Amino acid sequence: MVKRILVTGGAGFLGSHLCERLVEQGHDVICLDNFFTSQKTNVEHLLGRKNFELIRHDIIHPIWLEVDEIYNLACPAAPGHYQYNPIKTVKTSVMGAINVLGMAKRCKAKVLQASTSEVYGDPDVHPQPESYRGSVNTLGPRACYDEGKRVAETLFMDYHRMHKVNIRIVRIFNTYGPRMHPFDGRVVSNFIRQALAGQDISMYGDGSQTRSFCYRDDLIEAIIRMMNGPDDFVGPVNIGNPGEFTIRQLAELVNELTANKATRIITKPPLPDDPKQRQPDITLARKHLGWEPKVPLREGLKKTIEWFRSIDMNQYRAPTPNY
Ligand code: NAD
Ligand code: UDP
Repeated sequence: MVKRILVTGGAGFLGSHLCERLVEQGHDVICLDNFFTSQKTNVEHLLGRKNFELIRHDIIHPIWLEVDEIYNLACPAAPGHYQYNPIKTVKTSVMGAINVLGMAKRCKAKVLQASTSEVYGDPDVHPQPESYRGSVNTLGPRACYDEGKRVAETLFMDYHRMHKVNIRIVRIFNTYGPRMHPFDGRVVSNFIRQALAGQDISMYGDGSQTRSFCYRDDLIEAIIRMMNGPDDFVGPVNIGNPGEFTIRQLAELVNELTANKATRIITKPPLPDDPKQRQPDITLARKHLGWEPKVPLREGLKKTIEWFRSIDMNQYRAPTPNY
């Protein structure tokens, strides 16, 4: 059945792929974005499609649309960009959640929240299951994002309990792939951009901190499954690839795959509150969604590097100076 589907943050890295998949499935897709950390070119190829519509709008302001499903992805995701205007980041998560939940309540639409592994903060339980309540510094520079996303989860559960809104919550772990913003400052894009330009790869701290990297296609498959799964499994559910790597290992792999012998790996001062380890426990996703990631890091990085080689970086505007 054809559905009217709103994707907030739909022009971003993940949102644009999600829109693509939903358009291919024949749904009537509305992409809403304020283009803070993205640009129209991400969805340019969809503009001519009769089942695709693009709206420039800031999700902190209410908007009246008639829809059947909402994927709420609008929020800067890279630390440098979400810390650029932390108050705006909190507003985007909190007021954005209220606005999409209000719309879902009015339209009786199903609504999915793109939450994050950051709700676990700098975790002292490893790997992180959904039952772990997290260790977030409420006062630190990452709190605008972490706490904003935590309040958004709270709002989703409260609208669900109080107004019976049909919700889903996914907690996304570090995801990468083609169409990441080359100046988003995240580790994968930074390392690839630096290696391809023959610059030093900048590792914050000694590189012993870990992350688990999920390829974009695996991620999109999981969130579509979650949206279409049974109504009695609302989440939160971890979505990520349990393959865990130190940041040094990632730097070495990028170096090897870009084959740029001139590149050195250098250390820079560690970032405040930088989580030391992160790995999803995906037992729930396996059980309820029959999902697990298929693309190993080496393979996903090759595709991502290929994409970075194919783009003209001059066509990208850095969203903030923090990359
Ligand atoms: P992204 O920055 O590419 O996409 C976010 C999109 O939201 C951008 O297009 C941006 O312009 C838009 N946006 C930001 N503020 C907005 C506002 N106030 N109103 C309307 N649009 C706004 O990042 P992404 O990696 O595609 O992330 C998408 C979602 O997934 C985010 O909510 C993010 O928190 C979540 N997430 C991503 C990751 C990851 O590793 N990629 C991990 C955890 C969670
Ligand atoms: N990082 C790094 N060099 C960079 C960018 C990031 O060493 O140029 C590190 C960062 O300190 C963190 C990890 O890579 O430990 C992942 O950072 P990212 O910003 O991608 O996302 P996070 O998981 O911290 O939200």
